[in-house]
Amino acid sequence: MIVGGGLAGLAAAVGLGTQGIPVTLLESRARLGGRASSIVDRTTGETIDNCQHVTMGCCTHFAHFCRTTGLDRFLKTEPALYFIGPDGTIDEFSANSWPAPLHLAKAFGRLRYLQFRDRVAIARGLRDLARTPPARPDSRSFAEWLRDHGQTPAAIEYFWHVVLVSALSDSLDRIDVSHARKVFVDGFLKTRDGWQVQVPTVPLETLYGVELVRWLESHGVTLRLQTGVERVTSTVDRVTGIELRGGASIAADDVILAVPHTLVPTLLPAGLIDHPSLTRLQQLETSPIASVHLWFDRPITDLPHAVLVGRLSQWIFRRGTNDSLRAAGESQDSSAYYQVVISASRDLDGIPAEGIIARVVDELAEIWPEARRARLRHSRVISEHRAVFAPTPGVDALRPAQQTILANLQLAGDWTRTGWPATMEGAVRSGYLAAENVLRRRGRSVRIRPRDPAPDFLPALLFGLS
Ligand SMILES: Cc1cc2nc3c(=O)[nH]c(=O)nc-3n(C[C@H](O)[C@H](O)[C@H](O)COP(=O)(O)OP(=O)(O)OC[C@H]3O[C@@H](n4cnc5c(N)ncnc54)[C@H](O)[C@@H]3O)c2cc1C
Repeated sequence: MIVGGGLAGLAAAVGLGTQGIPVTLLESRARLGGRASSIVDRTTGETIDNCQHVTMGCCTHFAHFCRTTGLDRFLKTEPALYFIGPDGTIDEFSANSWPAPLHLAKAFGRLRYLQFRDRVAIARGLRDLARTPPARPDSRSFAEWLRDHGQTPAAIEYFWHVVLVSALSDSLDRIDVSHARKVFVDGFLKTRDGWQVQVPTVPLETLYGVELVRWLESHGVTLRLQTGVERVTSTVDRVTGIELRGGASIAADDVILAVPHTLVPTLLPAGLIDHPSLTRLQQLETSPIASVHLWFDRPITDLPHAVLVGRLSQWIFRRGTNDSLRAAGESQDSSAYYQVVISASRDLDGIPAEGIIARVVDELAEIWPEARRARLRHSRVISEHRAVFAPTPGVDALRPAQQTILANLQLAGDWTRTGWPATMEGAVRSGYLAAENVLRRRGRSVRIRPRDPAPDFLPALLFGLS
């Protein structure tokens, strides 16, 4: 029995489904996907995502999950990224034919808003970071690490902050060094394609609420939506099943609890949260992400997406299906729907939605004057206050393993110990790990997870990566 239909629970269901283990998945909401899901916008009637979700080439387990279930056909790899400098200049960022880690050297060189001395500092910083042993505990924040490694103010604000605030959803003074290292090593240094961004071509609801449901139901997974679990039931040494909100009990041989970490204490069997392996979980903090959804009466730029450097708005994505309908002559509608992502959005607390929207539209108009001429037909802000766990220094010591002290109770979720930050990749890894534990308990030592890719030759040689 799996409790929670976010990516962790779904990955556990897929892992067990591929092994022919009958699974029931209980989800309290009316839809699957958890924090990666869609809603229907009442004004436009469109199904929109709670926030743009992207994955990267280094997210190998999420890629495996999508290949296994056929979702990969709905992911588009962006051949280039577009960086908009603080002065509005647009720089294209793509790999050259050189081997990693030099494949992005020219792309960094093309970022005009960085001076030569900033680029030298960044190159040194990346080298030092890659050579830092991944598991060595470091009580410093990444902001302190950057200062200790001679980074210039522009390098910090326009490079390190830009990448990490999007990847880890927090400010540099609240980021663990090993988490920052993971982003840069796996994304930019270790292999040639780790940096490549993939964007879903359909709403998350189509991915997880339609296509994945088909796969799960054809692989022995019973889905029960709008079925909230009150608590996991147990005897002294084993889990017996779950009790639903409303009182009904369901027996289970194994339970995978795949809910957000903030809900775990109330759902665990009495007393378990006080076990030393779990007490520190309650110190895990969260970080917010906001997305601003804008429907203009026309496109404001030809770019499919852009990274906005040195602004409140961090990424913009063009979304919607009007383009393909127009191309097929099926729609005369020229409106254009965009999502602007603001990670680590604490500073927005207390600002009314209209204020946030006005500021974002002003920023867009500074870059693309068409945004000023266009009519804004509709707009809204979606704030996820507990979007992800905060990657604060020492955070990994707070994250429990999937296996609890009760042999037939597993935890899953991006917040469990996976070596990854809070991402779809981390959630899928946790689900696979939990599923492998269940199989092992049944005497089947099966590896569901793909192997982590080995570093390319040159990064292994230069940085001692393995
Ligand atoms: C705004 C935002 C933007 C993001 N952007 C990205 C991105 O671009 N790329 C990326 O990789 N990651 C991104 N993430 C992170 C990613 O969405 C999460 O890491 C991942 O979806 C977490 O999955 P999970 O299964 O661990 O948890 P969740 O998705 O939280 O799933 C837990 C599930 O448990 C259910 N549940 C809770 N209580 C009960 C109960 N009592 N009974 C039954 N069910 C219950 C919940 O309804 C939920 O469906 C973003 C997250 C947010 C919020």
